[in-house]
Amino acid sequence: MLTTQNGLVLRERSLKENDKFLYILTDGSGLIEVAAKGVKKQNAKNASVSQPFCYAKYCLIESGGGFILNSAEPIRTFFNISRDMARFSLANYFAETALYVMTEEKPNNEVLRLILNCLHFLDTQSRDILLLKSIFEFRLMSEIGLIPNLLGCCDCLKYQAPLMQFDLRGGRLFCENCIGNRSLAEMEPLDTKLLHYLRYIALTDMKQLFSMNVQKEYLSTLSRITERYCEIQLGKKFATLDFFKTMMG
Ligand SMILES: [Zn+2]
Repeated sequence: MLTTQNGLVLRERSLKENDKFLYILTDGSGLIEVAAKGVKKQNAKNASVSQPFCYAKYCLIESGGGFILNSAEPIRTFFNISRDMARFSLANYFAETALYVMTEEKPNNEVLRLILNCLHFLDTQSRDILLLKSIFEFRLMSEIGLIPNLLGCCDCLKYQAPLMQFDLRGGRLFCENCIGNRSLAEMEPLDTKLLHYLRYIALTDMKQLFSMNVQKEYLSTLSRITERYCEIQLGKKFATLDFFKTMMG
């Protein structure tokens, strides 16, 4: 049976001879594994659409619970990303994280949209690289149901305070009056700017998300907070993230 799906290749795995397995995040079926035959041969017709970070309309043969690549029309390739090691390593981190959280049973088009947007801005180099990392990490958590409660202090409901503590494991805020003698080991202090940035990333419409402006001096703190939130919520460390950090020096 033939099926057509728009999808983004997140990873490839080499098989024997000229074949590959592709892990494609699709709009209709979530994350799927696709056998791509003969694509390592020179001049193979499907070679260019069987590369990581190719976004294409894939025509697939569904058989025996698996998929085989028949043909594809490229929609967007992000050529520039691989020309810069920091950007390329960040794209790989996005891919590894998406591979970790997505499954075949649950398509999630917002996650696909998020990663496509992030790759677009990595490719065009029109947004700060650390800002893209923060947007990806924090928005991803929102899209997969791990959105923290940022509406206000979880005890007294105060919306804003000069300083709030963000409980990364509990996904909630405490104002200074309500923090009591809780351990700060898994908390991050937020001033009003940081809190505003986090609310914006988690809650604003995807169309406006990438036009957000963050003051330069906040970028690395914001990046640390979204990264820790992601790591604690997923209970997972990603090798691609460590590599990205070594690229950033
Ligand atoms: Zn409070």
